[in-house]
Amino acid sequence: MSADNKNNTAVTPPSNFLRTIIESDLEKGTYQRPGLPQVITRFPPEPNGYLHIGHAKSICLNFGLAQDYSGRCHLRFDDTNPTKEDQEFVDTIKDSVQWLGFSWEQDGVPYLHFASDYFDTLYEMACGLIEAGHAYVDSQSPEEMAANRGSFNKPGVESPYRNRPVAESLDLFKRMRAGEFPDGAHVLRAKIDMASPNMNMRDPVIYRIRHASHHRTGDKWNIYPMYDYTHPISDALEKITHSICTLEFQDHRPFYDWILERLTEKTELSDGRVVGPFLEKPLPHQYEFARLNLTYTITSKRKLLQLVEEKRVSGWDDPRMPTIVGIRRRGYTPESIKLFCERIGVAKADGWIDISTLEGSLRDDLDPKAPRAAAVLRPLKLIIDNYPEGQTERCSAPVHPHYPERGERQFAFSREVWIEQDDFMAEPVKGYRRLYPGNRVRLRCAYIVECTGYDTDANGNVTAVHANYLPDSRSGTETSQNYKVRGTIHWVSATDAVPAEVRLYDRLFAEAMPDSGGKDFLEALNPESLEVVNAYLEPGLANAKPGDIFQFERQGYFVADLVDSQPGKPVFNRAVTLRDSWAKDKKKS
Ligand code: ATP
Ligand code: MG
Repeated sequence: MSADNKNNTAVTPPSNFLRTIIESDLEKGTYQRPGLPQVITRFPPEPNGYLHIGHAKSICLNFGLAQDYSGRCHLRFDDTNPTKEDQEFVDTIKDSVQWLGFSWEQDGVPYLHFASDYFDTLYEMACGLIEAGHAYVDSQSPEEMAANRGSFNKPGVESPYRNRPVAESLDLFKRMRAGEFPDGAHVLRAKIDMASPNMNMRDPVIYRIRHASHHRTGDKWNIYPMYDYTHPISDALEKITHSICTLEFQDHRPFYDWILERLTEKTELSDGRVVGPFLEKPLPHQYEFARLNLTYTITSKRKLLQLVEEKRVSGWDDPRMPTIVGIRRRGYTPESIKLFCERIGVAKADGWIDISTLEGSLRDDLDPKAPRAAAVLRPLKLIIDNYPEGQTERCSAPVHPHYPERGERQFAFSREVWIEQDDFMAEPVKGYRRLYPGNRVRLRCAYIVECTGYDTDANGNVTAVHANYLPDSRSGTETSQNYKVRGTIHWVSATDAVPAEVRLYDRLFAEAMPDSGGKDFLEALNPESLEVVNAYLEPGLANAKPGDIFQFERQGYFVADLVDSQPGKPVFNRAVTLRDSWAKDKKKS
């Protein structure tokens, strides 16, 4: 798939296979049920880590489809793994979903669920499955179970406990729950087919003993249901219609369907009692889409955790991290993420998306929004010797060149201004058009200056540049037309410059596929992913609020850091560079 579809800025999202399926279900009335929308999706994170850009794709997809088809989307925590989960993760996941602009609330009802809320129901259903002959307690050791599972081309071996009496399984299961056995002593398995070509159908484990405290149910349970058992049932209980997951679950779909079918059945027992049905039709259906693989990025929770734990980054919200909290701090907007998700689309086969698609979405979102500002990142002093000492004058520039109605920024011009070190060369290379001895450039929105010389320190480093200005060359005046210069540079007056720390972030990895082919992803870390510089900003930025985003002219888009920036003491992060190089930009000015 070539998802790198930069030109696709359509307002109506392009169709995809999931929309086709939903539209067909709507037409057939597959999910017409009283009082329920015909499209109910869910986003089901496990609260064991921070969400990343891949999850954002799933969120945009699930919440987006629900929105587009007047349905609803549930946020469900798949919290069946007591040892790895935590309230901290629940909180950050909720926060990230909301930051992206989605809500699990509809008409005042919060569709916020936890699989752990279903533990009692799941347990009752498991007892029902045992009674109906669809599940049994297996007492093989974990090693025996693994050995008897068979392999891709070798059928599995049935457990000697597979046909133990129902009453015995039921009794053991109840005692597993009561905490009578140590971890691993028994498991509950679905009774399906040990010879199935699909390994997931070879009597999968549906409950295991785990003497662990759960972040929501505490010490109530000594057994916990498996994800593959919990997930379809949670979907059915919540009346989900389209259960959308990533491709690696394709082989799990037969069990998804099998378990739900069994639970819709009514079974008459030999003693006359009836078990089931536990669920009713129509049942949810699982669909798989390709997960997001992004170049120069890793999206494995385990590896992201490693980066944090080994302090390769400053934390989960390091602006180089692909986590939602990280990209948010980097300067990404919810709109840019949604635009990105729209552009990459949804495919049925795995592929790679180039990170430039993500960066391009941010530029396209910010370009019309972000106010412009001058920032000198690596400052060098320019002294205008023929400008009167102590004199200043007001200059101004549009907040946004395409939207004059947004007004003007004001700043001073004076005898000493800061310019970029890169905008001066003592000995210019061929084609260099900026400042060098004898050359003239325009100081943007101010005067033309002619370089007269420079100062150096004992090591020959340039410490200041000298120039004279042409008093009748001020931008916007008639007489300025008399001059033609080939370069324009930006500057900030030393009289009102705001000192700031600016963090120049780059890609965290230097290789496009840092963790493919069994490589050690740590070796692919980009040693230059962060450079911190002292900068001078135009005065209007002194009181930037954390989260405010600007386009620093000629540089890129920068956000006042959410954590470290303070009014009067700004810290800015580079979100993304400008697409245009200075060479192109220069022609415009
Ligand atoms: P784990 O290995 O812990 O299960 P996970 O990345 O699958 O990690 P979940 O919390 O289970 O994390 O994911 C929640 C949802 O997000 C799932 O439906 C999953 O399919 C989806 N998801 C996860 N990673 C991606 C990705 N890279 N692209 C698209 N969807 C993803
Ligand atoms: Mg998962």
